[in-house]
Amino acid sequence: MSDNKLKGIKNGNCNVTACQKPGATFYNKSTEAYYCADCAEQINWPGGRAEVMELYGTPLLCEEERDIVQELADITLELMPTHPRYAEVTNRAYNTLTDLYLMKFEYECLKLTVEELEQEIREKSQTISNLHWANDTHQMGSA
Ligand SMILES: [Zn+2]
Repeated sequence: MSDNKLKGIKNGNCNVTACQKPGATFYNKSTEAYYCADCAEQINWPGGRAEVMELYGTPLLCEEERDIVQELADITLELMPTHPRYAEVTNRAYNTLTDLYLMKFEYECLKLTVEELEQEIREKSQTISNLHWANDTHQMGSA
């Protein structure tokens, strides 16, 4: 069950043949391929770090390359992790960078109350649903 086109590429499958877990984000400077977190941890074993330091000037052979979307998703989750509607909406907003920026900006700069934020989220949620609906329709049409 392997897809060679995805093996070892960024956000594809782990480069370890026996693993091939999806979502590989750890770049290996030696093989120039991407690995999952578990395999990267094994490759970064403490005993090999001195040699890696000599070769590459950093102790870890595999280092994570995170996408801006992942970074922003984490930032927004940190802002309001307890709000009941928050996770639901941010999950849907992950593909919409503008939305993550807007939410972060509004919460940090305008210090919205929970009620105001809830209203914003309700409106954005509607927009995001419409966007997704439009994208889905487009993809179906072009397939
Ligand atoms: Zn792996």
